[in-house]
Amino acid sequence: SASAECPLTNVELGRNTWSFLHTMAAYYPEKPSEKQKTDMTGFMELFAKFYPCDYCAKDFRKNLKESRPDVRDRYTFSKWMCVQHNLVNKKIGKPEFDCSKVMERWRDGWKDGSCD
Ligand code: FAD
Repeated sequence: SASAECPLTNVELGRNTWSFLHTMAAYYPEKPSEKQKTDMTGFMELFAKFYPCDYCAKDFRKNLKESRPDVRDRYTFSKWMCVQHNLVNKKIGKPEFDCSKVMERWRDGWKDGSCD
């Protein structure tokens, strides 16, 4: 039935995963330690090895090689994640997201107060 809990489709998995990745980036430290920077780079590399959509993970690994995670701080990392998501959006014909709005979307809520 429509209410049954079933294994995720790649579309459901993608939506849930981007929610996690953008939220993680939005709460990454503003002033990360050197250890936090290497840990987050390692996290993204391991993520790309195990993401359970094979063709998605393959392309993501390729993109990671071309653009290393920008883990200098919360804002650079959130922007980097947004650009990665836009690469996928472009590939599958979805509209590009305005990366200047990434903190509103994933951390602060929209300026019009609609999330308050
Ligand atoms: P999603 O694209 O999942 O986006 C969810 C929400 O995030 C949007 O509603 C919007 O509010 C916000 N958002 C959109 N773009 C951005 C952005 N650039 N920055 C910040 N926030 C944004 N699907 C494929 O068909 N082929 C693939 O190769 C593929 N690769 C993927 C690789 C990864 C690493 C991940 C996590 C997912 C991948 N997917 C792939 C899934 C795909 O990206 C979508 O998640 C899926 O199609 C569901 O789309 P959606 O319309 O629900 O919105």
